[in-house]
Amino acid sequence: MADAVSPQAQRLHDASLIVDLHAHPSFKTYLWRKRLADRHRPGGSLSPFSMRVDLPKMRDGGLNVLLSAIHLPERALLKDCGPIRLAKMFAPRRLKDLFDRNPFEQTMKMIDDFESQARLSYFSRDNVTTQLEFAMSGADVDDIMSRHHIAALHTIEGAHSLDGEIQNVRKFFDRGVALITLAHFYENGVAAPVHGVPPGMRKLGCFDEPVDLSKGLTPFGRDAVEEMLDLGILVDMTHCTKTARDEVVSMATAKSRPPVMTHVGVKALADREMNPDDAEIRTIADAGGLIGVIFMNYWITEHHHTKPGLMFVVETMKHLKQTGGVECIGVGSDFDGFTDPPDDLKDPSQLPRLTDALSRAGFTDDEIEQIWGRNFRRVLAGGWGR
Ligand SMILES: [Zn+2]
Repeated sequence: MADAVSPQAQRLHDASLIVDLHAHPSFKTYLWRKRLADRHRPGGSLSPFSMRVDLPKMRDGGLNVLLSAIHLPERALLKDCGPIRLAKMFAPRRLKDLFDRNPFEQTMKMIDDFESQARLSYFSRDNVTTQLEFAMSGADVDDIMSRHHIAALHTIEGAHSLDGEIQNVRKFFDRGVALITLAHFYENGVAAPVHGVPPGMRKLGCFDEPVDLSKGLTPFGRDAVEEMLDLGILVDMTHCTKTARDEVVSMATAKSRPPVMTHVGVKALADREMNPDDAEIRTIADAGGLIGVIFMNYWITEHHHTKPGLMFVVETMKHLKQTGGVECIGVGSDFDGFTDPPDDLKDPSQLPRLTDALSRAGFTDDEIEQIWGRNFRRVLAGGWGR
């Protein structure tokens, strides 16, 4: 039973550093003014109004570090998606701003907005208060955890937020941004994307534009990646074409920086252009990089119409271990993104189930600790800051 986490697994989970490489609570706090301190019901699988990542559920699931993804919806979405164009006409100013304001300034505003909500949000139980505190460095992460708080790191999904200005890379770095996911759903002047939405979700004519897999980084994209690597912002290749990913890996390797994919599956088990094949897994592992496994069946299995998914996450991790070694494995839930999490891993409170399932599948305690947090620590030390 997925529900029953063994006492040994729970102890291991509690003693481990638990890191989620990619989740979007900021999207829900910004869009719908959802409150971080409230316990929300997850809601329907694809409901854009659901809120999966809140303080009570992070506390239940023993989360220690959250890479908080700020995503500014791309302007191309308006052109591509009639229903969103229509909704925008009746939306409040705060939501119109997503498309009307300068993308860089609006992204900064969303970072500020999430941070100020985090500062005002507490959850207390058994005389321990949980709060989300933002880290500006690796040392901050330890400091925050020593107070039993959850360390959050700002990350940005989609380099359209740079607005084509190279100096904005440094401005994000100075604001504490630890990682930028270069691509997202549309061409953004930085890195070419693969299809980021499953065919079944491409409803109402949206997200159906063809993608060109031969495209990689643009000249500005190469400059931006170079600047990120020099300053020490982790470069996330999720959503990039293989062509772009190959360029990033060789640039990162040349500068001894770890290349990262925060929320993907593997091509051997789910044949999607977003997923690395075995040779790419080995290259990323050899470069000291990290591959975070996403909690969404479409990206991790061909049996994606099934509702449970914990077993597919475990299978993906087994494949990564066999191919690249356990050192390249991480966890990137993508909760509160454009996702459909499996029924048995639907919010952060259920994270201990993964520890239990990995243990039952033969992963050692040491390997499980590496997957949850120690690999991330290594990558953060090598990739964030100088
Ligand atoms: Zn994503």
